[in-house]
Amino acid sequence: MAGIYIHIPFCRKRCHYCDFFKSTDFSQKSRLLAGLKKELESRAFELASDEIDTIYLGGGTPSVLLIDELKDLLATINQNYTVSGDAEITMEANPDDLSQAILSAIREVGFNRLSMGVQSFAESDLKLMNRRHGVMQAVQSVKWAKRAGFSNISIDLIYGLPNQTMEEWERNVRIAVELDVQHISAYNLTYHEGTVFYDQLKKGVLKELPDELSLQQFELLIKILGEAGFEHYEISNFSKPGFYSKHNSSYWKSKKYLGIGPSAHSFDLNSRRWNVSSIGKYLQGLENNESYSEAEILTEQDNYNDYIITGLRTVWGVSEEFVRAEFSARYLIHFQKIKDKYMQSGHLIFSPEKIRLNREGLFISDQIMADFMVVESC
Ligand code: SF4
Repeated sequence: MAGIYIHIPFCRKRCHYCDFFKSTDFSQKSRLLAGLKKELESRAFELASDEIDTIYLGGGTPSVLLIDELKDLLATINQNYTVSGDAEITMEANPDDLSQAILSAIREVGFNRLSMGVQSFAESDLKLMNRRHGVMQAVQSVKWAKRAGFSNISIDLIYGLPNQTMEEWERNVRIAVELDVQHISAYNLTYHEGTVFYDQLKKGVLKELPDELSLQQFELLIKILGEAGFEHYEISNFSKPGFYSKHNSSYWKSKKYLGIGPSAHSFDLNSRRWNVSSIGKYLQGLENNESYSEAEILTEQDNYNDYIITGLRTVWGVSEEFVRAEFSARYLIHFQKIKDKYMQSGHLIFSPEKIRLNREGLFISDQIMADFMVVESC
């Protein structure tokens, strides 16, 4: 089983918080699509013996593509790979690109999961973030998506926004619940270098929300979604039973995936590869049969640290027995030492044969993961 991720590096406008690789210049769109097809064809041998059980179009903004362009990409995958009959096929979409007819066509070409960039149900937040859509467009898009036959819809939200009150955040979460979607991803705002928000923070135009308030918003999120029947299966991800994102879960469970397009990452169990974050260099490489990516072979330390980071993020946790079986003694000794520390401080719980973060642990997950990881001198 393996996944395919395709990065569509175009956005109509830059959101002020976003550091994903993207361009607002669409002049290379057709050339880029030809490049994506070529990469899909030329790398099919890498998954020749795998069945594809997840396909994910992310970005950027995949919903800027025309229906025929989306159809063509899926057809290229189907022609070159063995796609499982019940594969999860997700497309990220922004509400301002959608209509009832477009959503019906997206469903018809084969996408069966929709991930919508909603971010907030407050107009003032959307304006602050430089989003293109309005609140009603987001709400309407979810309704249209359901009518179009999507029964697996995810929406993204952001908390910890400057000046966001608990009441405003609670309203956001409650509207998301009322929309009766199957999946919600909620991220604490991060000020990434190179973004407008980062510059505004440095200049004092924006003021960061105090950590305690972000934490309270996270707690409230967990509480409301828990009461509404969502399972909290990864730090930032919540789903109704049976609707975990299969694609993202395979990242956290260290399954193989192929990343297609500029800036996309791939993983084949032994090495990681990443394509260049430049549309021009990506196309030049592909068109001239030159390199357009870099790769690294994973060391035992990389594998151990990946296991820790991905496991502790999720309900599946990490297993001492697995560390004992797969890694050398020094990793086990370090693992046991840190496990004892956080068991005593009450931040971990045992689920059958695994340890995972409890609610208190989730709030300091970065610190716990950093402690569990092994650095050179360990
Ligand atoms: S958040 Fe999405 S739409 Fe906004 S700039 Fe980033 S990738 Fe583009």
